Amino acid sequence: MAIEFSKYSARSTLRVDLSALKHNYETLKKKVGGATVAASVKADAYGLGIKPVARALYGAGCRVFFVATAGEGKILREHVGDTPSIYLLNGPASRDLRLIFGADLKPVINSLEQARLWASAADPVGSPPFSAIHIDTGMNRLGFDSDELTSLARNKKMFEKLGVDLVMSHLACAPDTSNPLNKEQLNRFRRASSQLPMKPLSLANSAGIFLGKPYHFQMVRPGIALYGGKSSSGPEASAIRSVVSLLAPVIQTRNVKAGETIGYDGLFKTERDMKVAVLAAGYADGIPISASGIGTKRAAYGTLYGKRVPIVGRVSMDLTIVDISKMEKPINAGETVEFFGEHLERDASSMETISYELLTRLGQRCRREYLTAS
Ligand SMILES: *Cc1c(COP(=O)(O)O)cnc(C)c1O
Repeated sequence: MAIEFSKYSARSTLRVDLSALKHNYETLKKKVGGATVAASVKADAYGLGIKPVARALYGAGCRVFFVATAGEGKILREHVGDTPSIYLLNGPASRDLRLIFGADLKPVINSLEQARLWASAADPVGSPPFSAIHIDTGMNRLGFDSDELTSLARNKKMFEKLGVDLVMSHLACAPDTSNPLNKEQLNRFRRASSQLPMKPLSLANSAGIFLGKPYHFQMVRPGIALYGGKSSSGPEASAIRSVVSLLAPVIQTRNVKAGETIGYDGLFKTERDMKVAVLAAGYADGIPISASGIGTKRAAYGTLYGKRVPIVGRVSMDLTIVDISKMEKPINAGETVEFFGEHLERDASSMETISYELLTRLGQRCRREYLTAS
């Protein structure tokens, strides 16, 4: 008699819904009317894979991209062809100039020092290279402060050499819609940018778009909203569809008696008899160790047949254990527990992190499945 084994994968799958990604791009496009919707695709498109993501966005009409580094820009250029603008948020570094010119990238100039470097690099090239100017308006991270900006505005000769085609700033608190710093940054951006020759302006990231029309200017630069992040909980954000699910197959189930412990370091103690499922996804696949269920902290969950199954014990490198005691029907190896998806923001907060970090730390080991419109 032949023995039948159920066929299942012992490896998790990262499912990326490219049609939802396109839907989100189009939703934001409608929201901002005539403004250009650029896409922030730094860090391998927030961990989702630069090639399929950039191509899908290109297919949706996106022609302006933001990445952090020249290396990211060079890879992106190979996937989107010659037409799109690719801005480098981390600015021009002298070591990267060859790469920047070679791949026709546009550095975002964040300081006078970077402006001097870019202006002198421009000389031997002849025609001015293109770049953006970043003005700091209250985040105190990258960008010109007010004194530096005044110097730049006065030095017309240098400014000309920079080939500036965009002036931008970045919001520090946009998801917190009632934070007074939003308005303050908006006003400072208007005032500061008026010192420079008139150029297209850009202030809003994803959450900034939902702050309303005054924040849109000529270009917006969403990232997380394209990938299904809902920085605000308002009705507007509900038009954003989820894009990323981590699907972790059950590889074993077991009964655990009351008074036992589960997982490394015995951090979870069972108070009653439990049934648990061991899933083929651990911190190497993108479920952070901070998702561990150790009794005292708020539980993080996966979703199984629409029910929430709490993580119990420490997340390990390749495996995570969930409590399936409350499932009505028996659970077998091969059935899958979903993480993120619709619950990306909730999962991020119960895992003591943010959606951005969850996505950018997705593991390389998962099988990747890209869904396109059927
Ligand atoms: C990452 C980034 C963005 C995109 O931000 P989201 O919150 O993901 O929309 C836009 N602008 C700058 C300067 C960034 O660093």
